Amino acid sequence: MIASAPASPPHRDADGPRVRSRRGPSASLQASVLALNRNFTAVQVISAKRAFCLIYKELAEVVHVENNQFCSYDFSGWLELCQLKLEMGEKADHEDWIQAVNFEIQVPRVIRLTSYDRIPQSTVKFNRRNIFLRDGHRCQYCGKRYSTPRLSLDHVMPKSRGGGETWENIVCACLKCNVQKGGRTPAEAGMKLLNKPVKPKRSPLLVRQLTLRKYECWQHFLPQSSE
Ligand SMILES: [Zn+2]
Repeated sequence: MIASAPASPPHRDADGPRVRSRRGPSASLQASVLALNRNFTAVQVISAKRAFCLIYKELAEVVHVENNQFCSYDFSGWLELCQLKLEMGEKADHEDWIQAVNFEIQVPRVIRLTSYDRIPQSTVKFNRRNIFLRDGHRCQYCGKRYSTPRLSLDHVMPKSRGGGETWENIVCACLKCNVQKGGRTPAEAGMKLLNKPVKPKRSPLLVRQLTLRKYECWQHFLPQSSE
């Protein structure tokens, strides 16, 4: 249901509500929001800031999951529900809230783009960040975890021998293992891969986010995956 709109919310302007996170500008406003198309199919993950702009401009509505039922709210309706929740003292630890000049509002976890009906592409972007995420920032030779600056990309079959830039041929490796392996195959270098590299079916970032309680309601809108 779309909640009926009460009186205009305070402090609206052309760019959307002036909101600020209590935990600093980069905390709650950077929380992730799952955007659905108008047919409730997941399209992409966006920031809370962008989600609020879309809701405010009436290009999207909040989809709130309550007791396995979905309820839709426009900006005013969502604000009203948030005020009610505050009055009842029902804020939970896993929720993100944003403090505006004179009101407080919860970051929705899911929004629906009301006039967008395209089906998203399901391909996962092949890039450095996603390879590191797929491999859990773990060197695929020694098995140790490292921060991003201490990791490199290794061509399992060396580039000089025709190894391609593909999900199946590139793994995360620490600098030491990468140097040790050099321009050889793992077998030639006497090194063993921890896992067989494969193309992920789902965005590695999404897979990681789904393990967090705050994003578990996204499961309702995502196709089942074996990952
Ligand atoms: Zn290593």
